[in-house]
Amino acid sequence: MNERPVIQLEKISKSYGTFKVLSDVDLSVAAGEVLAIIGSSGSGKSTLLRCINYLEPPDTGIVTVGDTRLDGEIPPTRQQLYALRKNIGMVFQSFNLFPHMSVLRNVSLAQERTLGRSRKEADAISLDFLNRVGLAEKAHEYPARCSGGQQQRIAIARALALGPNVMLFDEPTSALDPELGLEVLAVMRELAESGMTMIVVTHEMSFAGNVSDHVMFMADGKVVEYGNSKEVLGNPQTPRAKRFLRAVNER
Ligand code: ADP
Ligand code: MG
Repeated sequence: MNERPVIQLEKISKSYGTFKVLSDVDLSVAAGEVLAIIGSSGSGKSTLLRCINYLEPPDTGIVTVGDTRLDGEIPPTRQQLYALRKNIGMVFQSFNLFPHMSVLRNVSLAQERTLGRSRKEADAISLDFLNRVGLAEKAHEYPARCSGGQQQRIAIARALALGPNVMLFDEPTSALDPELGLEVLAVMRELAESGMTMIVVTHEMSFAGNVSDHVMFMADGKVVEYGNSKEVLGNPQTPRAKRFLRAVNER
């Protein structure tokens, strides 16, 4: 149990101009663990995820993912950024599939570009992952012929096909109708059960409660509560978290 965490953030801070978006955020995720991040809009959840793979470099603090350790005060080299991002798959609210390419091409392209796989090799791997998210039969369709839930599952297959050690999800179901969200959550649950290390920003409290090991509640760029998911969701300690959870549960 004394294994090193797979993801560790130490005192991460980030400002946009004079506006402090993140203040001294600490976070640690062990191998195979699922962390849900909750909190109202504007609390810094997306910025925090983007700091983990340096889509937004933090101003100060240390990001460690696997063997890559970056200090926010020292600009990373290209090799360091590559090493960091190689470990991390990311899925956003918007799926960002190319409309003029088949589903298969969409999943294969990043593998060819970033890992140098041949088209044949990439396509075989893509089919495996499309199969895993239940969409092998859509491989030769265009994304427009797929529902939003299917498109998000394709985006998940695309990320997984790059072989990440950790997956970051930023509100993956919030653009979807509830039923289509469920099929995406089912894929994410399977991924969690297969042992993937995951951080999921979500408003889906049943996913947070049933699938995640820990829950972190953020407000104003700070970690307000963190703990066992059932405890944080069932017995929040701060007025801020109580108010947020009451509002979410009354929807
Ligand atoms: P959340 O994901 O919790 O809704 P965000 O991380 O997206 O929060 O945003 C946190 C705050 O930072 C918000 O007030 C947002 O307006 C601000 N913000 C986010 N990105 C930028 C940016 N690129 N420039 C300026 N302000 C930003
Ligand atoms: Mg956000």
